[in-house]
Amino acid sequence: MSHASPTHAAHRLGSWRALALVAVAAVLSAGCSKREAASAPAADAGWLTGGHDAAQTYHSPLKKIDADNAGRLGFAWDYDLETTHGQEATPVVVDGVMYASAPWGFVHALDARTGQRKWVFDPKVDNAITSKVCCGIVSRGLAFAEHRVFVASIDGKLFGLDANDGKVLWQVDTIVDHERGYTVTGAPYVAGDVVVIGNSGGELDARGYVSAYKVSSGELAWRFYTVPGSSNGPFEHPELEQAAKTWDPQSRWDVGLGGTVWDGMAYDAKLDLLYVGVGNSALYPRKLRSPSGGDNLYVASILAINPKTGRLVWHYQTTPGDQWDYTATQKMILADLRIGDRTRQVLMQAPKNGFFYVLDRATGELLSAKPYVPVNWATGVDQKTGRPTESGLADYSNEPKLVFPSPAGGHNWHPMAFNPETGLVYIPTLEASAVFWIPEAPYTYIKGGPNAGALYAFPAAQAGNWGLEGAAAKHLKPLAELSKGQPDTTIRGFLRAWDPVAHKVVWEVETSGPWVGQMNAIWNGGGVMTTSGNLVFQGQSTGALHVYRATDGHPLAAIDIGTSIMAAPMTYELDGVQYVAVMAGFGGALGGVHPVGTAAERYGNAGRIVTFKLDGGAVPRPAELRHESAVPRPSVERFGSAADIDAGNELMKRNCARCHANQGPGAIPDLRWMSADTHQHFDDIVMKGVRASKGMGSFAGVITSEQAQQIRAAVVDSAWRAYEADQNTPQSAPHVPDSGPHIPVKPGSAASEVSR
Ligand code: CA
Repeated sequence: MSHASPTHAAHRLGSWRALALVAVAAVLSAGCSKREAASAPAADAGWLTGGHDAAQTYHSPLKKIDADNAGRLGFAWDYDLETTHGQEATPVVVDGVMYASAPWGFVHALDARTGQRKWVFDPKVDNAITSKVCCGIVSRGLAFAEHRVFVASIDGKLFGLDANDGKVLWQVDTIVDHERGYTVTGAPYVAGDVVVIGNSGGELDARGYVSAYKVSSGELAWRFYTVPGSSNGPFEHPELEQAAKTWDPQSRWDVGLGGTVWDGMAYDAKLDLLYVGVGNSALYPRKLRSPSGGDNLYVASILAINPKTGRLVWHYQTTPGDQWDYTATQKMILADLRIGDRTRQVLMQAPKNGFFYVLDRATGELLSAKPYVPVNWATGVDQKTGRPTESGLADYSNEPKLVFPSPAGGHNWHPMAFNPETGLVYIPTLEASAVFWIPEAPYTYIKGGPNAGALYAFPAAQAGNWGLEGAAAKHLKPLAELSKGQPDTTIRGFLRAWDPVAHKVVWEVETSGPWVGQMNAIWNGGGVMTTSGNLVFQGQSTGALHVYRATDGHPLAAIDIGTSIMAAPMTYELDGVQYVAVMAGFGGALGGVHPVGTAAERYGNAGRIVTFKLDGGAVPRPAELRHESAVPRPSVERFGSAADIDAGNELMKRNCARCHANQGPGAIPDLRWMSADTHQHFDDIVMKGVRASKGMGSFAGVITSEQAQQIRAAVVDSAWRAYEADQNTPQSAPHVPDSGPHIPVKPGSAASEVSR
């Protein structure tokens, strides 16, 4: 086992890891028995934050597993996470213990050598929160400091847990207004002696903010709002007075205006700066949100905050006046890069808007911004002013426009990774466009509900007529017309090795899988990890963990684990053995849809941590599910008028489609195949929340009972059209008459969901 001295390691790894080493040293002296301390590994053999270190590099200096032997990677152990919701977190390993956050805000503490459970923490979430969830009941990670584990629950509590036994040392409610559409899916981040947490709800009516709590006590240290609450105060802090000047006084302050901080942060201990990525605004269309225009600070911005005072040191707005859900919440990486004749301390981000940014992280100065995917909303970014040059091609204020990148972004939450040895950033990129438009019906505010104020649709190959039904599609031009003169609209995904100094792709691997042109082409490739063994790791929804040579992308291994992977892998070393681990389980923005060809569709979606080592042998796969291939006969007859069905389709798109996408089998049911019994209890489910424990909270207050029935009428109409089309198709498989869908459930997975 290599055992670098702290001094040597600190010099080699930079100041942020030096801080982490100090933290681990404190852990070793404070929290562990003598025997454990004596056998403790070198500090840099662990994985100390979601992204390995405070700089969030997703890079490990370990190299026992390397480009020569990666083909020998096999099974070490696995661990059942007892849920079928999506897994987006990367575990932390400190002193031989793995801490992993799971859906709802559960924490699992395991022996990192064996996968044996030490303790589990249940945040005891109020299920009613599920109606506010945007993109799956997920957790993007936890933080560790001073022998404490910090995790947020989906309903917005932040917990400080004793790392020894998971006992709650302190807990706080981080939500300022529970009537609004707040949830928390992001990880907390430690910056000095505070732990910082944001929230989600940018498409609902959240007003974004981050809160910092003292690591020791949970006492609120400061709170920074990302958007003003009014045009003329009172302002909670002075930065908001400046920000208010960039909004129309008649802005929709009542809707909250978004700017949620739902994912990336990073910390530089030497500069003592906390970096916070800020999300999109709602309403999406600027003419509805801030009618006279303006940059609308601090939406879609990167903020540098002094964690001792909570005051803003600098900000950089990636997408002034954003209209396209172009969040700058994506994870940021801090690194030292040789640019020209100087070594620069930089912050790198690939936000949704398609440009890769390199900023001086001490000052916020723009060093470069170049497109890493096709972009049409701007022609470039002015190096002097730091502002994008908008093309006008994407402004849908007056008519629908095809926009590149799509609101899924050129890059989403999936972590990218930076390898200081190759100098490359490995980015899971998404190539897609979408048509945006403002609906004909005047916008009405729904408290605690969806308030994007615009609609969009993807040109997915399987979705003729934009995948829309009824009135929603009537005023959209065909794709061929909207895409004239535009980049290729085929939906694809790529793992790209990006040179952040030369601004170019050095190598790429297509990760579309069998879904080229379909939505899962962009959701197949997961988060990325890189190591000093000249390796890049990325899982896919197919269930394969792929390993590439970091320098040139040469494929070295593809290990089928039988469980879809979205989260970034991690690695650690114990007793001279290097392990690689990944949290597996599908979900996120596709909701519970499991496209045909994903491991989730073939083997179910029981979440697990799978850990690998050299010469471990084959990874055990879950038992295969049995699928009925036929399109079943809908369980009830059509009802409702054509107008009801049109209205139902619009309501469906605004309220339901973010989870129920009617595309195939999955943990979240395809509503078309509701059983007769479910139809009977539809009002209880939708309006009274009787299935909240399964993730379907009440929509009372968001829609009326009459509107719920319009949605049901639209769903039934859609089911009959699918059924009739199937009946008219020659060679269609025999249907299953008079029954609900066959959505098989593996014993021990969805049916016995212990973690709700
Ligand atoms: Ca968003």
